[in-house]
Amino acid sequence: MTTPSDEPRGAIARHTAYLPHFWDKATNSRPIWRIDWGQPGFTQRTPPEPTADHRPTVLARSWDRSAPDGTGETWPYLRRGACLGCTWEGPDRRRTGEAVEDAHDHTHPGWRDLPALPPQQGRGWITHATNLYPEGWFDAGGPVRTLRTGIEKRHLPGAAPGGGYDLAVTPPRARQGTVITEALPLDYDASEAA
Ligand SMILES: [Zn+2]
Repeated sequence: MTTPSDEPRGAIARHTAYLPHFWDKATNSRPIWRIDWGQPGFTQRTPPEPTADHRPTVLARSWDRSAPDGTGETWPYLRRGACLGCTWEGPDRRRTGEAVEDAHDHTHPGWRDLPALPPQQGRGWITHATNLYPEGWFDAGGPVRTLRTGIEKRHLPGAAPGGGYDLAVTPPRARQGTVITEALPLDYDASEAA
C-alpha cells in the first residue's frame, strides 16, 4: 500500500504512525505495521516512548497478499522483531516466537548461550537467576530463559526479573534427567557430584 521509501522505520515510528488509524474505522489499518498487542511499547492512544537503550519488541501486521515467499499464500499475520531504542527491524516471520528471538539477537546478543532455569518460583528463584546471569543483565532488560514442560510455551514479555522477556526453552521429548542438567549453573562441575 505504501512504497518502502515513505514508510516509517522502527517500532516507535511505525506504531506512532499507526495509532490514528487504530481509531479510524474508515481506514483499513490491518496492513500497517505496528507494535503487536501485548508486546513492549504497545499503546492504544499515546505514542510509545523510545527507550534509552536497545529493548526488544514485536511488530505485526495483518493479512498481506504479497507474502515474501512468493507462493501467493495469504498469511493471517506477519511479524518482525524490532527495537524500542532504535529503528532496527528483523526479517518477516510467521510466528511471534521467532520474531521475539530475532529481537533479542539485536538487543541482548549472547542470550542463546545463557543457562535455562527451572520455572519461576519465589524470591529464592530471582536471587538464583541474578547470581547465575551476567552482572547487570536484568537491569538492562535482559531476558531469562526458563524450561517449559507445561502448556505455556510462549515467550512472555515483562516476566523476567528486570521486566524483560521470559523466554521459553522447550527441549523436545526431554527426559527429566536432561532438564535437571540444563538447569544447573554454567560453572557446575559434574565431577563433584559423581
Ligand atoms: Zn536497537
